[in-house]
Amino acid sequence: MNAPNPTSEKTLLIFERGAPGRGSSLYPDCDVPDCAVDPVLLRSASPDLAEVSEVEAVRHYTWLSTRNFGVETGFYPLGSCTMKYNPKENEAFARLPGFAGAHPLQDPATAQGCLALMHDLADWLSRLCGMSAFSLQPAAGAHGELTGLMCIRAYHRHRGDAKRIVVLVPDSAHGTNPASAAVAGLEVREVPSGPDGMVDLDALDRLLGDDVAALMLTNPNTLGLFEKNIEAIAQKVHAAGGLLYYDGANANAILMQSRPGDMGFDVVHLNLHKTFATPHGGGGPGAGPVGVSERLVPFLPVPLVMKDAVSGQYLLDADRPLSIGPVRSFYGNFGVLVRAYAYILRNGEEGLAAVSEAAVTNASYLRERLRPAYRIAYDAPSMHEFVITGTPQKEAGCSTLDLAKRLIDYGYHPPTIYFPLVVKEALMVEPTETETRETLDAFADAMLRIAEEARTSPELLHDAPHGTPVSRLDELRAARTPVLRWKRPEG
Ligand SMILES: *Cc1c(COP(=O)(O)O)cnc(C)c1O
Repeated sequence: MNAPNPTSEKTLLIFERGAPGRGSSLYPDCDVPDCAVDPVLLRSASPDLAEVSEVEAVRHYTWLSTRNFGVETGFYPLGSCTMKYNPKENEAFARLPGFAGAHPLQDPATAQGCLALMHDLADWLSRLCGMSAFSLQPAAGAHGELTGLMCIRAYHRHRGDAKRIVVLVPDSAHGTNPASAAVAGLEVREVPSGPDGMVDLDALDRLLGDDVAALMLTNPNTLGLFEKNIEAIAQKVHAAGGLLYYDGANANAILMQSRPGDMGFDVVHLNLHKTFATPHGGGGPGAGPVGVSERLVPFLPVPLVMKDAVSGQYLLDADRPLSIGPVRSFYGNFGVLVRAYAYILRNGEEGLAAVSEAAVTNASYLRERLRPAYRIAYDAPSMHEFVITGTPQKEAGCSTLDLAKRLIDYGYHPPTIYFPLVVKEALMVEPTETETRETLDAFADAMLRIAEEARTSPELLHDAPHGTPVSRLDELRAARTPVLRWKRPEG
């Protein structure tokens, strides 16, 4: 006889548990008189819900909750996502009754604390990025991109330069960049990277013209490399009449070190839910504030939080005739703004500088530990993240997907894989500043062992992960014919 599988009962769906008539509540019959309900609204058959006891339900959902992997259960080096640990105190601040209970329609005179927080946060972000003003309204990074590009478009139109509809995007860019440009009604043209992973300046020269609205760039770029020609690039784009957009989703490497405004950028968006400590990954809420240089301020979304110089009162300014209008209801995801503000104040300028230094040091350390077994995609000093390639392992018959799946057996969330697209078999690792030396070493040891396994026992990787309730998913079938609803088996 087979030994009982200790998890088999646990892996049952809630609908497969229980027994007819079993339930969780033993209330007396309802003594409120029935009232007439239109029969068309009445259910004719039972809803066929799970009939389980309270303890079965609680155990089921508690077990499910432990199946999740998050930054609070283990190391999560997902490149370009900044999965760092977020201090718990921020949650307490976001829940303060004066913040959590504020209503977006209440009279600004009664919400001065909330407005002061937004005003001061926008000020901090402007100083950190070298921008003139920030709108806190966009709800995500991609939403910030759309907002920033709409401002750029409005700027060109206002100057009677409406033919500028092309956005130049490097081939190493995050996928949201070309997508946002397309949603903004602009045309995307790709700028190739040179062999060093930097923007190819000759190719840029060829692409620049009087139809270019902007170049979208991130620096350090998605390869983790600092674009050393940034001043020349900014000069070329501006000379051609275009503007520069900075994708600052992962700004860990630059805090108090360098500022997009000083590099020549006209627009920047930040992901507060990456760089400035809001837990993320489950689909929101986030915040993607947009900062702009002086000439673009009139086009920012409304309302903007202003401070009356005479009375010292904070107010909402919606009377801005050149504004692109609101991009979201009210003032953005306020709870995320509170967390970011708390994080910035807690760290201060010195603390933020230390965040950057640690993010870059951790990435550089890990990269060097992996060097003996993996190929470094672009062997230049990396910033907060770096890209290695699994091509040596691929030649031995193990794909980067196999390596990533095997990491799950070692208790780690795999890094970003197959991105950026310009690197074959890419693994993009972002350890973040919140990890200890011990964690980085343990992860590096696991990666080196996996490289060894790829040589000596590749089948171990082909079937990985081995310790999860489900192993390899049929991703194609899951996407094409998803099963989203449980049906009771016939009979
Ligand atoms: C995460 C990310 C984005 C998109 O941010 P969302 O909040 O997910 O919309 C854009 N660019 C880069 C480089 C990113 O890492």
